[in-house]
Amino acid sequence: MGSAQKHARAKAASGNSDVMTTESGRIERVQVKALDEVLGVPFKVLDDGFVRVIDYMGSDESIVQAARVSYGRGTKRVHEDRGLIRYLMRHRHTTPFEMCELKLHVRVPMDCWRQWIRHRTASVNEYSTRYSEAIDAAQATPPGEWRQQADGNRQGSQGTLDLDRGGQLSGAEAELQEKSRQVYEARLQAGVAREQARKDLPLSTYTEAYWKINLHNLFHFLALRMDTHAQLEIRSYASTIGEQIVSRWCPIAWEAFLDYRFHTLQLSRIEQAVLQALTSGNPDEATRVATERGLVSYGPEGLKRNRERSELEEKLKQFNLPTPWLEPH
Ligand SMILES: Cc1cc2nc3c(=O)[nH]c(=O)nc-3n(C[C@H](O)[C@H](O)[C@H](O)COP(=O)(O)OP(=O)(O)OC[C@H]3O[C@@H](n4cnc5c(N)ncnc54)[C@H](O)[C@@H]3O)c2cc1C
Repeated sequence: MGSAQKHARAKAASGNSDVMTTESGRIERVQVKALDEVLGVPFKVLDDGFVRVIDYMGSDESIVQAARVSYGRGTKRVHEDRGLIRYLMRHRHTTPFEMCELKLHVRVPMDCWRQWIRHRTASVNEYSTRYSEAIDAAQATPPGEWRQQADGNRQGSQGTLDLDRGGQLSGAEAELQEKSRQVYEARLQAGVAREQARKDLPLSTYTEAYWKINLHNLFHFLALRMDTHAQLEIRSYASTIGEQIVSRWCPIAWEAFLDYRFHTLQLSRIEQAVLQALTSGNPDEATRVATERGLVSYGPEGLKRNRERSELEEKLKQFNLPTPWLEPH
């Protein structure tokens, strides 16, 4: 067999573009130029945090290549690759996305890290404050960034305190952080073991970790932590990972994630029935369905709070549809 034939056969076997096959037909390691350009570059988050890419494996092409092993080879034009990735995302196929891996170095305040580490599908190594001195940096909140407790959402925040009050709080924070560091360092100087000396350091103290995860699990993390329900601090990290890193690394998969996971709208069976009734001009039927399924009910103080109904009302608002149980018609 001639080298051109071998090349053609290797290309077909790889189910992918020229980028991955050499003249001799050997499949090469995938490289993503746009991500290589920012490899090791820290993307700043909060006042002293960052995320940076240490290494990666795979690309949009690897997702396509993996999927074609199971679906058989098709043509390999770019728009067809895009179509395949979007199909996989839309229909919640997962293993092709698991073929891509990302290794990050992150610097995060401990309170934020505590939320981050709940995601069990990554491989993690964290800076040890038993072995080394704790990082001498704590996240500070500027006067204009003290958020108020949200009214409707016990887990959320809304608006900010006025600058005067914020200034007092930032001053008190700085004092506390400085004092706790002094106490920590005094303990070390007195010969206390690092593992014990650290116990009163605040949760605002920065920690660092290597965090490696595949693209499927990363999308799950991003879907939860870029969401407006997530705390602002972890949301800042998640948005940076998504917008600065994943968008460069796997742009087609990123776009599909935004279209079919992140900005998608899920409609339950009840919600579909309500929507069908409303769009066919039958608000009474919509109220009947919502009542029958427990979304609308009344107590001594009127309409009872119901989280599922509030979420439905938000969706109706997006479509400029009325909420008949709230509005006279
Ligand atoms: C807005 C928000 C509020 C939150 N509030 C709280 C709170 O008040 N209290 C609290 O404790 N936590 C809270 N969490 C954390 C949350 O409950 C999850 O623990 C966290 O988001 C990790 O996500 P996950 O459970 O999907 O799992 P991940 O660890 O990210 O895993 C991804 C997926 O893998 C699968 N998986 C992984 N490991 C296992 C396993 N061992 N067994 C079975 N399936 C597995 C599951 O399908 C899982 O969804 C909150 C999270 C968010 C985003």
